[in-house]
Amino acid sequence: MTRVDVVVVGLGLTGSAAAWALSRRGRSVVAFEAFQPDHRRGSSHGRSRIFRRAYTDRLYVELTGRAGELWRLLERESGESLLHRTGGLDHGAGGEPEAMAALLADAGVPAELIPPDEAARRWPGMSFEGPVLFHPEAGVIDPERAMAAMTRLATSAGARISYGTWVDALEPQSDGGVLVRTGSGSLHARTVVVAAGPWTEPLLSGLVKLPRLTVTQQQVFFFRPHESAVWPTFIREDDDAVYGLPEGPLLKVAEHGRGRVTTAEDRDGVVDPASRERVMSFVRRWLPGVDPAPCDELTCLYTSTDGEDFILDRQGPIVVCSPCSGHGAKFTPLVGEIAADLADGHPPIHERFTLAAHERPSGRDRRANS
Ligand SMILES: Cc1cc2nc3c(=O)[nH]c(=O)nc-3n(C[C@H](O)[C@H](O)[C@H](O)COP(=O)(O)OP(=O)(O)OC[C@H]3O[C@@H](n4cnc5c(N)ncnc54)[C@H](O)[C@@H]3O)c2cc1C
Repeated sequence: MTRVDVVVVGLGLTGSAAAWALSRRGRSVVAFEAFQPDHRRGSSHGRSRIFRRAYTDRLYVELTGRAGELWRLLERESGESLLHRTGGLDHGAGGEPEAMAALLADAGVPAELIPPDEAARRWPGMSFEGPVLFHPEAGVIDPERAMAAMTRLATSAGARISYGTWVDALEPQSDGGVLVRTGSGSLHARTVVVAAGPWTEPLLSGLVKLPRLTVTQQQVFFFRPHESAVWPTFIREDDDAVYGLPEGPLLKVAEHGRGRVTTAEDRDGVVDPASRERVMSFVRRWLPGVDPAPCDELTCLYTSTDGEDFILDRQGPIVVCSPCSGHGAKFTPLVGEIAADLADGHPPIHERFTLAAHERPSGRDRRANS
């Protein structure tokens, strides 16, 4: 029986980051991914995610700072540019731009609150109402290149990575470890990091008492700007939140909420036409510099807790990492470090990310974070 320090289940952004962090620490690591690299069935596919510092929550502002430093480390170690700073805009009363500005100021993050007419002059392809928060540290992450970079670094540090391999079962052993069963055999791990995204619940059913995790099928739309320009990332939040970000020459725009509830197995990959209509009318109203007919679209899964806080905790030999809720990508390399700390026996980074905290009603109704 092969024995390793850690088995990582899943190689989306989370598992790739965990494999990189653990192998950098010299742990023996085996990582299993059910599908091939760049598959489109989970949450991490595509070429763009928003990185931003602006949150209405002090904890997340602080964590984005630590994540930003680790993105730089990943870029240095991989020799790749993975986080492209474009600056980011927040507008719309629902997003509380003034409250975000105050938190950024407290944290020493450069930001400015701009009147709407001045913002329209600076970003002529966009319309604004009410104060606009701009912070230059925001930008765009490339998740597919980031996953490739992290798995490459993990492999060169000794991790063994196996694509096309389902982990069928995790069986805790009397010695405190876990027997990991796959179609091609079993191995013994001292600790297992479960980074299975929307498959977390089926894999851990009967093993770990999870809080409610809601899987929704989201859709994103790509639009062609009338003129080439450098676009910032943005979120406009009124009653609902719509976000956008540049991806190559196009602008990707999507609703943060309102996805159809589904499961990883049952999702149909069909774009919701009502969401397309709503996003097109958003583009007509708020993005005059963009052709309102989408030129491409795709679906993706969110796995969300009720309060949109992450689960980053450990029960016995099983580390549970579910950092999605539609805003986990920006924290990727930090989540890898947290997963490695948990696997090494350190306590959870914050009480809010524990399994127990999620069992209690939080009363928190988180803002759109993307
Ligand atoms: C449309 C969309 C837009 C988003 N935009 C942003 C954004 O702008 N900014 C931001 O910060 N975040 C954003 N997010 C969130 C971010 O993308 C997610 O937090 C992140 O991708 C989660 O990655 P993950 O690795 O946890 O899950 P996944 O990417 O789903 O990875 C889980 C992996 O585990 C594998 N797996 C599952 N079960 C098994 C098993 N039993 N055996 C082997 N392998 C298994 C799966 O095949 C999968 O590859 C967005 C998400 C979506 C869907």
